[in-house]
Amino acid sequence: MADKTIEGLTKLAFLNGINALKQINVNDAEIRIGAGVSITELELLMQDHHASFAAMLRRYSSTQIRNAATIGGNIANGSPIGDGPPALVALGARLHLRRGQQRRNILLEDFCVEYGKQDRQSGEFIEAMSIGHQADNLRCYKLSKRFDQDISAVFGCFNIEIKAGKISDARIAFGGIAGTPQRAKHVENALIGQDWTIGIINEARTKFAQDYAPLSDMRASAGHRLQAAQNMLSRCFYDSQGVPVNVLEVTS
Ligand SMILES: Cc1cc2nc3c(=O)[nH]c(=O)nc-3n(C[C@H](O)[C@H](O)[C@H](O)COP(=O)(O)OP(=O)(O)OC[C@H]3O[C@@H](n4cnc5c(N)ncnc54)[C@H](O)[C@@H]3O)c2cc1C
Repeated sequence: MADKTIEGLTKLAFLNGINALKQINVNDAEIRIGAGVSITELELLMQDHHASFAAMLRRYSSTQIRNAATIGGNIANGSPIGDGPPALVALGARLHLRRGQQRRNILLEDFCVEYGKQDRQSGEFIEAMSIGHQADNLRCYKLSKRFDQDISAVFGCFNIEIKAGKISDARIAFGGIAGTPQRAKHVENALIGQDWTIGIINEARTKFAQDYAPLSDMRASAGHRLQAAQNMLSRCFYDSQGVPVNVLEVTS
């Protein structure tokens, strides 16, 4: 992070060497993950808490990149196609920000204001993030042209709670489909309180067009992205019914 310029030289801090940022703490209430935790370490941690997130992280670039890249860097670089933020937003993660001795925490979804803009003051850095303990309802589906070593064209994360056949809560977040990792609130609202049936899913699918206006680029056309998001919701439903939906997922 650049601090100030002295005679043309920029002062830099290499955060990866700071042990205090590499801490993981799991207590009864939450999982706290230091910003300097690598993607490899995050994958190992998530295997015990949110297995679908862990399985997706296995497809995050390559072993070398996963060993070097930190989850704090993945969030702070502000890319709309980063794989960490959508899953963390679907889990309701909070970011812990620090500037000197001043600390504050905000929802990750509020940190990502718009493309290239974050709620971060000059000199403020991400110290950690925390996820409240919850049942493992999260399902993550990464769509990319290649299975390995490829950036997501669309990345959908579904954290849907079903109680007695009804949808009691839904947090759905996508990457690759808007300027920031963003929740699909129209879809969520169409689901919450309804029966968990394919009929409701088919109605809710149409709401994606109200949540997202995706771009066309080299990875996918706008139409492909929207349809992929809709199909991921159907996939999530069939997944929950035990229907085989995995075509290529890594299982070992
Ligand atoms: C070959 C390759 C493949 C990739 N594949 C994927 C992929 O599949 N999925 C994916 O999501 N990403 C992918 N990436 C992107 C990359 O892995 C992420 O951007 C990475 O997580 C960045 O982490 P870092 O620790 O290296 O951050 P850096 O590159 O060091 O930092 C990124 C930015 O964030 C700032 N920053 C870092 N840490 C903090 C902090 N704690 N607080 C405030 N600001 C901070 C830095 O100043 C910088 O501006 C790929 C990258 C490469 C090179």
